Amino acid sequence: MSKVIVVGAGINGVTAGIELKKRGHNVVLVDPGPLPHPLAASTDISKAVRAAYGADEEYTELAARSIKLWRKWNEEFGVELYHEVGVMFVRHREMKLGDFEHESFKTLQKHRRKIERVNSAQFRKRFPAWNPELWRDGILEREAGYVESGLVVAKLVERAKSLGIELRDTVPGARCRPTPRNAQSLSPKKKTCGSFYRRHFPLSWMRRLFTRGCACIAIRTMDIFGSHAIRNVKD
Ligand SMILES: Cc1cc2nc3c(=O)[nH]c(=O)nc-3n(C[C@H](O)[C@H](O)[C@H](O)COP(=O)(O)OP(=O)(O)OC[C@H]3O[C@@H](n4cnc5c(N)ncnc54)[C@H](O)[C@@H]3O)c2cc1C
Repeated sequence: MSKVIVVGAGINGVTAGIELKKRGHNVVLVDPGPLPHPLAASTDISKAVRAAYGADEEYTELAARSIKLWRKWNEEFGVELYHEVGVMFVRHREMKLGDFEHESFKTLQKHRRKIERVNSAQFRKRFPAWNPELWRDGILEREAGYVESGLVVAKLVERAKSLGIELRDTVPGARCRPTPRNAQSLSPKKKTCGSFYRRHFPLSWMRRLFTRGCACIAIRTMDIFGSHAIRNVKD
């Protein structure tokens, strides 16, 4: 049994710590704190979970495996951390070979994921929030959804403690050092990923991408607006 120091208690650090502990190691988890850390990429209201990754089969398989584990965690933690509401990618024009959606559709079909192709008529009937004149084609991944990411980290930190992982979340040396690149996001006014998005994806810029029918923007919007945008996609 070895002593392992895991630096950083975001989703990767905390899950690595738990896994190492389960395998019999002594684990110390170090983070400047507080946890979940407000500057961590993992700390946000929601993160999208989907198996649509274009032609990338490895990622699709990993995501499909993760969805099974999210369901298991929902039961284990007794809280709905993963909301399986479905995720939809939409396009202005019909998808064709090489497009993200087209490749995702093929890969998801191959991996027997529950997917549907949606068209203008379906947008009109099932998703009236989407303008059917603008949105003509898309894929709906029914087993996809979103996780309450900040809550997930909080629950995992609790679990880490209960398993006997030593948590050092007030270590003076473990400071996130501001570099010219991240200094701005470290200012008190800009603490969360939400403000990162607001800074980098102002609405007018997003609109321009939208009108070009850019492939993965739908999912990005879901990230930005969190649960509200993707809730009830299945209905
Ligand atoms: C805006 C945004 C949206 C995203 N949307 C999605 C999505 O929808 N779906 C998806 O799957 N993924 C999404 N991602 C990616 C996903 O959030 C990240 O891949 C994931 O959270 C990374 O986790 P991490 O543990 O590696 O890093 P982090 O969560 O950033 O954790 C790093 C930890 O290290 C700590 N730390 C930093 N410096 C030190 C130090 N010197 N000493 C000790 N500790 C330190 C921090 O306090 C923090 O707690 C998104 C990312 C961003 C930024």
